[in-house]
Amino acid sequence: MNAVLHPRQARDTQAWQAADAAHFLHPFTDFHALAKKGSRIITQADNIYLRDSEGQRILDAMSGLWCVNVGYGRAELIDAATAQLKQLPFYNAFFQTATPPAIELAELLAEVTPPQFQHVFFSGSGSEGNDTVVRMVRRYWDVLGQPERKVIISRNNAYHGSTMAGASLGGMSGMHAQGGLPIPDITHIEQPHWYELGRPQGLSRAEFGRLAASWLEKKILEVGPERVAAFIGEPIQGAGGVIIPPETYWPAVQAICDKYGILLVSDEVICGFGRTGNWWGCETLGSKPDLMTFAKGVTSGYIPLGGVMVGERVAKVLIEQGGEFNHGYTYSGHPVACAVALANIRLIQRERLVEKVRTETGPYLAQQFATLDEHPLVGNAETCGLMGAITLVKEKDRGTPFASELEVGMVCRGHCFGNGLIMRAVGDRMIIAPPLVITREQIDEMMSLIRRCLDLTWADAQARGWV
Ligand SMILES: *Cc1c(COP(=O)(O)O)cnc(C)c1O
Repeated sequence: MNAVLHPRQARDTQAWQAADAAHFLHPFTDFHALAKKGSRIITQADNIYLRDSEGQRILDAMSGLWCVNVGYGRAELIDAATAQLKQLPFYNAFFQTATPPAIELAELLAEVTPPQFQHVFFSGSGSEGNDTVVRMVRRYWDVLGQPERKVIISRNNAYHGSTMAGASLGGMSGMHAQGGLPIPDITHIEQPHWYELGRPQGLSRAEFGRLAASWLEKKILEVGPERVAAFIGEPIQGAGGVIIPPETYWPAVQAICDKYGILLVSDEVICGFGRTGNWWGCETLGSKPDLMTFAKGVTSGYIPLGGVMVGERVAKVLIEQGGEFNHGYTYSGHPVACAVALANIRLIQRERLVEKVRTETGPYLAQQFATLDEHPLVGNAETCGLMGAITLVKEKDRGTPFASELEVGMVCRGHCFGNGLIMRAVGDRMIIAPPLVITREQIDEMMSLIRRCLDLTWADAQARGWV
């Protein structure tokens, strides 16, 4: 078909599904199973609502994929992209050149990040940002004359992206199993998951936080402190299931990093730009990182962009002693992406969305989530800012999980889809991260949908004799 003579045509759902199944390999998908079932086709969106090709309205409690923080359809971002496309759609930053949007965004990021950050390295995504982290961390120690410091410690069930380095830093065993990962000199410790690891041992959250942090020190000593380059973690693990660590965890991790002089990297791809009620997750959870990866919320997902905030400890060494850093991407500092990010950040500032999450919608969501504790299916429901997780259990009092092959989370997710709600399942943990523009009334609407889906899942579990 000639694309010029035949611009994108409206097709019915079945026609979209057939073409999708014939040509489009989706991320993290069983291609064969999806082709048989057919994709859901999303055709438009506004504010916090999506619409699919069947005309169903869906409340998007996942902000797309943790990114549409300012909501869909914002004219400010669209106009910024259009104006920049007309003015200068692309120029690179390789040839000792720069474009105004990239410079302005670098300046604005230095303003909205903690004071140790005055420099940024741009990438096209969060995964690429974490590839940059690996390169930069190892380069830093090389320049300092300690090339043996190569090992980066991360955590099981962490998500740091899907490139070779991103997936290696991540702690997803299913990802490591495909492709011979992790790459050398990346090692993992257990995650600070109180409900799964601390509660069964009868530990308080505070005790467990300190214990989980001590696993980092144990690993440093096992590897040899002189070989450890950095520790990386998401302030709150997102894709792993919104694992909110105890308050004692990050300050203890920080103290251990300080004790051994190793770099601390905060992967802020989800937690950044207001998600937890501060601009950065590290501010909420209590660490002072040397590097921060960002992506997703930087443009509210309207256009791809990522990067690494480089703290002065690292920046100074690379700038003053490093010489040429042999790393970069065609789209590092892409002018259109940077223009959208500028509009997005200014919108977040103007609408005081970070404060709104901290003082208004975050506390309201927490209050509403607390009432879910009474539901027979809910073992635990917790939030931080506008992230939340609900653990579905077989026996509420003892927190006994369902057999994993029952896939209760998927049953619940099915009900969500059927009832016009996007809530994601990570195993039997149901998670949400709605747009930061969500109102109290919309939180009420979301909660009543969540309740309905939990009830329907409970009814299924009873009917099938699972409880
Ligand atoms: C999504 C995500 C990434 C990867 O970002 P991409 O843009 O998908 O490459 C990295 N880290 C975290 C914490 C993420 O949630």
